[in-house]
Amino acid sequence: MAPPDSPRWPLATELSGTENGKRTTDALPATYHYHEKAGKRAVGDPAEDTLAFLQRELSLGGLAGLMKHLWFAGAERPAMPLHSYVAMGREIVVLDRMDMHLLWANDGRLFVKPVPRFLLSPDFCQSNLQCPDGCTCGDPPANACRGVPRKVALGFLYTYACLISSETDFHVANEKRLLPRREDDQPIEWARWKTLARELLRMHEHDPGALHPRFRRAELRLSRLNTISRLTSIPLFNPYFRGRYNYGSLFRDNLAWMATTTVFVAVVLTAMQVGLATERLRGDATFQQASYGFTVFAILGPMGAFALVILYALFHLVKDLPSLLGARRKRTATGRAVSSAEPKTPA
Ligand SMILES: [Zn+2]
Repeated sequence: MAPPDSPRWPLATELSGTENGKRTTDALPATYHYHEKAGKRAVGDPAEDTLAFLQRELSLGGLAGLMKHLWFAGAERPAMPLHSYVAMGREIVVLDRMDMHLLWANDGRLFVKPVPRFLLSPDFCQSNLQCPDGCTCGDPPANACRGVPRKVALGFLYTYACLISSETDFHVANEKRLLPRREDDQPIEWARWKTLARELLRMHEHDPGALHPRFRRAELRLSRLNTISRLTSIPLFNPYFRGRYNYGSLFRDNLAWMATTTVFVAVVLTAMQVGLATERLRGDATFQQASYGFTVFAILGPMGAFALVILYALFHLVKDLPSLLGARRKRTATGRAVSSAEPKTPA
């Protein structure tokens, strides 16, 4: 029996061309950034190797390894309409990373990846996100398999069908530049978006397996993802997303909760002191024991917490040291090469 033909791109609505649908340039971005290896960033031309670009652009990054723990970071539910997030006081932050799409931080930021232009072109997706005929989409996938990037693309577009449900959401999305504009720099038409969103909804109803399971949970809480990552990733204690870039903010963030806890401990200690002054509790052995335990905790707890923060900072300093020294060595070598190449000016 011949292997089954791979499924065609399920969406037909073209959105990002000019009014008559004609395109004058490719739908890809100008350049794209990626990591060649840990800590080494590079810039590539997406038109040169479209497959490599798509694999990076549609990669879930570190999230793929945390899939079975995602229940801790967010409930299974579709994304809310975009205007609701604004009403809740969430600050929509545009971040062009698939692994950060719909992650929200405790300070109210909601990271949203804008829709890339190429995903709104069915012709492009049909030719670039289609497995070759007979592909079994095994695990690990074959080189030519497009199964995972295709599922990520469809799941991602489905979140937008949920995010932009009314004209109000459509207006917010255009204002935040979450949707690409047409090639003549006009916003895409609401009527066309409506058709695409309904197409996506039907696809989700009839074939939920076509979407990547990451998108079953729309929003994910970043602080919980960081906790999961610290406990499960190798090396340990690596957060999912490092939002701070200096040690000052690390201490500031941690001092805030330490100060709150200290106030609470002080209130409990005062209450215990008053309790010990009363006739009834002075002779109570259990209360005496509890007071003793809590007093020891009140002395050692804050010191222990502060020591942990210092150890955490030291751990990161030691971890970052090789790359910092490497960069310094490189700079010194470049500096020497430049100064030896400079012509000597007569004194
Ligand atoms: Zn495949």
